[in-house]
Amino acid sequence: MAIAIFFVGHWVSSVFFQTFFLHRYGAHKQFTMSKRWERFFHLCTYLTQGSSFLSARGYAILHRMHHAYSDGPKDPHSPENHSNVFTMMLATKHRYDAFAYRREEPEARFAKGIPDWPALDRLSQSWPARIVWLAGYTLFYAAFANHWWMWLFLPAHFVMGPIHGAIVNWCGHRYGYRNFDSDDVSRNTLVFDFLTWGELFQNNHHRHAMRPNFGVRWFEIDPTWQVIRLFAWLGIVELRPAHEQVDSDDSLPAKAA
Ligand SMILES: [Zn+2]
Ligand SMILES: [Zn+2]
Repeated sequence: MAIAIFFVGHWVSSVFFQTFFLHRYGAHKQFTMSKRWERFFHLCTYLTQGSSFLSARGYAILHRMHHAYSDGPKDPHSPENHSNVFTMMLATKHRYDAFAYRREEPEARFAKGIPDWPALDRLSQSWPARIVWLAGYTLFYAAFANHWWMWLFLPAHFVMGPIHGAIVNWCGHRYGYRNFDSDDVSRNTLVFDFLTWGELFQNNHHRHAMRPNFGVRWFEIDPTWQVIRLFAWLGIVELRPAHEQVDSDDSLPAKAA
């Protein structure tokens, strides 16, 4: 039971901060928040993603390129450009590393207004810190796994972020239905996205990149939007006016901070 709670808790919290903080806030600025809250959620993202933490800078640059070149030859992670999910993820990792480790400068338009925290990036990218995370996951299993097959789930904790990336980037542009005719091949994979907190409404999101609610039709439930609404009501985040949310300039935030 403890292993199941740990696995589900790690999965749910890791992908929540990916979609809420890295994607909707960091890459798109669909809503705003104070610098203090930004730091708080940035730290939460590190603590929940652990050994597979994605730098906000690397994530945002790659993701903005994904919108600007969606499913074209310059898209950093499109299933259109790869024969299987593994080659796509490997290519994605190379592009991500180049920007996250600052080995390559992106086009200026892709690097505006990112919640940058170089010290946290350096910590998360250091091997001693990664080894502490891996040891922590392993010790938890050593303490609570009471059947051999439970250990099969341990490696997933090491690479939780890339697993979510593979699901969203591959399935979200390959399987499901479309509400909008667009030049890309984005799709809505699940009507109720219980796996990735709404990330699998890719077709809706590519059409309205500035809209914090990824559900468009009455039956489409985006769990992260419910949390954003609550945070807005509590004054933690501020939503943009409605006319900015339907801005379909899909490569960049309408007004980068
Ligand atoms: Zn996409
Ligand atoms: Zn996006």
